[in-house]
Amino acid sequence: FRRLKEGLKRSSNALSTGITDIFTKRKLDDDVLEELEELLITSDIGVSTSAKITANIARTRYNKEIAPDEIKEALAEEVAAILEPVTRPFVLDESRKPHVVLVVGVNGSGKTTTIGKLAKQYADAGKKVMLAAGDTFRAAAIEQLSIWGERTGAPVMTTKVGGDAAGLAFSAYEQAKANGTDLLLIDTAGRLQNKGHLMAELEKIIRVLKKLDADAPHSSILVLDATTGQNAINQAEIFGKVCDVTGLVMTKLDGTARGGVLVAIADKFGLPVHAIGVGEGIDDLQPFAAMDFARALSG
Ligand code: GDP
Repeated sequence: FRRLKEGLKRSSNALSTGITDIFTKRKLDDDVLEELEELLITSDIGVSTSAKITANIARTRYNKEIAPDEIKEALAEEVAAILEPVTRPFVLDESRKPHVVLVVGVNGSGKTTTIGKLAKQYADAGKKVMLAAGDTFRAAAIEQLSIWGERTGAPVMTTKVGGDAAGLAFSAYEQAKANGTDLLLIDTAGRLQNKGHLMAELEKIIRVLKKLDADAPHSSILVLDATTGQNAINQAEIFGKVCDVTGLVMTKLDGTARGGVLVAIADKFGLPVHAIGVGEGIDDLQPFAAMDFARALSG
């Protein structure tokens, strides 16, 4: 929690200072409420979500004198109420052997890093983990995943740069089935510049995985970078159309002023949030906890 609180300091500082400025010795009247709503919007919480939170806070407190700390507490409760229904840890389905996870998101969002962190957690728990370097467009992505494989002891299936990602995913799944792997994490390309191609490729990967098991992939985790703010909302929208996103990981919540975007996304899409990234290190993936996040955000 301390780590998250430090990470969200820039997000919470803006909110906290703003709240103190707005509320010092003032009643919760329309002007103050408008300022509060503006403050939430500038914290990337999103227009409709900010309006909803403000209205809820006003409901029992309208025209009353409120101390900044009371507002912070009320804000934390409202944010937690939005986040609690989507708080859902990733659970490994032991009956699958392997549980196949497709990891999607735009380049640079932290897919490869998140795969490495997840691999570490499950390898530490004694599970057999395998990785597939399905972002075949970038040599660096293949190399990065191989490095995470070495760090975690998980075998990494690769193909040459420009190789067929769907074919690779199929072979990795076959091999993982044959050798009793518990968890297969498949990295994918995330070039949003060419949406048609991105869609076609992800659809093809999904189609070939289904040849081995109609339920595969068993999870499709979308990785979103908190520092991109409102762009993360567009990404959730786009990837939601391409694949059946079963959960989110939000990365780079260490040191961003834009952490509020997670609240906007939770409210808009209702997608389960599995975990958050709070650093580049192998242990910097935390299970998502609604109230901790809400308190760290509201200062
Ligand atoms: P990919 O292109 O989606 O696979 O993204 P990468 O996993 O290669 O990550 C892109 C950059 O973001 C790398 O420099 C990572 O170290 C960094 N990164 C990933 N997750 C986090 C995080 O939670 N916090 C911070 N500060 N950096 C992160």
